[in-house]
Amino acid sequence: MTIYVCLAAALAAAVVIIYDRLQTARTMDRFEQMLDEAASGRFEVLRYNESRMSSIESRMADYLAAAALSAQELQAERDKIKTLISDIAHQTRTPIANVLLYTQLLLEQELDTDSRECAAALSDQAERLKSLIDTLIKTSRLESGTLDLHPRQGELAPLLTSAAAQFTHAAAEKGLSLTVLPCGDTAVFDLKWTREALCNLLDNAVKYTPSGGKITLSVQPYELFCRVDVCDTGPGIPEQERPRIFQRFYRAENTWESEGVGVGLYLTRQIMECQGGFVKVYSNVGQGSMFSLFLPK
Ligand code: ADP
Repeated sequence: MTIYVCLAAALAAAVVIIYDRLQTARTMDRFEQMLDEAASGRFEVLRYNESRMSSIESRMADYLAAAALSAQELQAERDKIKTLISDIAHQTRTPIANVLLYTQLLLEQELDTDSRECAAALSDQAERLKSLIDTLIKTSRLESGTLDLHPRQGELAPLLTSAAAQFTHAAAEKGLSLTVLPCGDTAVFDLKWTREALCNLLDNAVKYTPSGGKITLSVQPYELFCRVDVCDTGPGIPEQERPRIFQRFYRAENTWESEGVGVGLYLTRQIMECQGGFVKVYSNVGQGSMFSLFLPK
């Protein structure tokens, strides 16, 4: 008799445990479904009743709805900023081109020394403004996806030599040696835009490396990527600065004396991301920096 009572009790306990497990699994499934729906922006409360589950569900619904709203608002704010930058950039292009033209005409006139210096300074500043605006237009086009890159399999040697050729004069004028090491590798990249990214790195290397220094361009092949390195013997970048130098308008404190606006590396990173690559920096303070473009093979 006792054995039957024990069996019945064990059976009842098993039923209760199984029922409880099933309930828990259903609750978990529902939460999982709610989170999936919230993540895809389709969330709505399905069941309203007096149960505890329903009360938790409705509180979770409020929370998820608020989170979805703030994510949408954040995206809308970002879109507004992008549009604003792009509008300012486009609207200022023509007046700046005109300022440059008139300054050029002024410099062709007979001018006394002071006036010539003023006109030259004006031309210099207008050039800087033009280059900033051009970069902003490029970044906003890359961000909004309105600018197509066409990555193709190609030799890396012409990319390196054509980019380096643009800096031969500036490097020699500053007393820097600029060397391109031989390479026979290929990768998948958009020539025009990758050259722009590489030129940004070379421009920085020339700008920040003191006279007498060395700049070297080389390629290191890996299984999936080819690494294009721009090595310099400049001041280096402190560790805490390194993640920040790729942000828009960020300039390290010790570089305020050199010309620049802090968008070159930001653009470089965007160009690399748009073609399935990435950019990295390695640096030793006081010894130099190495910026590397990783291009897919
Ligand atoms: P910019 O050169 O116009 O300031 P970038 O976006 O190209 O803007 O670079 C951001 C910052 O990164 C620079 O202000 C500088 O502090 C640092 N940096 C970039 N390249 C180098 C380099 N080769 N050596 C030392 N510092 C560098």
